Amino acid sequence: MSATMATIIDGKAAAAKIREEARLRAGLLSGAGVRPCLAVIIAGEDPASLSYVAAKEKALAEAGMESLDIRLPADVGESRLLETIAGLNADEKVHGILVQLPLPSHVGEDRVITAIDPAKDVDGFHPVSVGNMVLGRPGFLPCTPNGILALLGGLPVSLSGAHAVVVGRSNIVGKPLANLLVRRESNATVTICHTGTVDLASHTLRADILIAAAGKAGLIKADMVRPGAIVIDVGVNRVADPSAAKGYRLCGDVDFPEVAKKAGHLTPVPGGVGPMTIAMLLRNVVQAAERQAAFRS
Ligand code: NAD
Repeated sequence: MSATMATIIDGKAAAAKIREEARLRAGLLSGAGVRPCLAVIIAGEDPASLSYVAAKEKALAEAGMESLDIRLPADVGESRLLETIAGLNADEKVHGILVQLPLPSHVGEDRVITAIDPAKDVDGFHPVSVGNMVLGRPGFLPCTPNGILALLGGLPVSLSGAHAVVVGRSNIVGKPLANLLVRRESNATVTICHTGTVDLASHTLRADILIAAAGKAGLIKADMVRPGAIVIDVGVNRVADPSAAKGYRLCGDVDFPEVAKKAGHLTPVPGGVGPMTIAMLLRNVVQAAERQAAFRS
């Protein structure tokens, strides 16, 4: 390895610490008769969604928490989904509700998410959660942006005054992440880039912290990165690879081998942001259970 190679940020190791903390907190609750439980709703058979749900449920079990797996057919009606959520909202044994996205296209995603009781909205996608986040009030923070913030917090650099460039403006990654970075506690100066951005490289080159969340394999090339920058790769893209057992491999939005020669710190895919997303979900489920237990006692 050359002396100029980026430090690879170990998302698995950072996530393991958060998962252990969640396991201890879940153990305390279980000892008091409250076993944290997440209901996971999945509609249809999308292979990526099924594998995300399996990973989340495995992590919950390893942290001593329960998951209630609710599988619905791809042609499920919106009213059935809404009834299912109403039942889970009323169920005292269920502390968190997660609807795996994307939902089948005939279902109104917004209406389904808005049906979740904000007290159980551990994904942080409900408009009330989003509003609380923007206002800096207590509430559930969305897992991927919060996980990225935790990764950045573990680096020996200050976010304060840094220029963060976020590539992507989705409601689940780009927008909330930009919002968390601009908070006074983070104190970064934030630029948000998207498909309407002219000359993407002119923005990314000015980034002390570059976050790629576009879902486009290899979008960020080495000549778009400032030397020594912190680069966080959120993208998870399936790229055809006949030599792989599954016929594809996963890669991020960043041209990893080339950018590793230029960046100061860089997250790998897999093993960077992904594990942090799951760790933050566990933390939110424990937090939901703690709050609900305190409210009822
Ligand atoms: P999305 O498709 O909803 O949003 C992508 C955003 O990127 C859009 O706002 C779009 O404007 C922008 N974009 C797309 N192409 C661009 C380009 N060429 N130049 C500039 N901007 C561009 O996706 P999403 O849900 O935000 O997810 C983004 C990526 O992150 C996906 O690969 C997804 O799989 C991944 N993801 C990973 C995790 C994780 O835990 N690791 C979690 C969520 C999403």
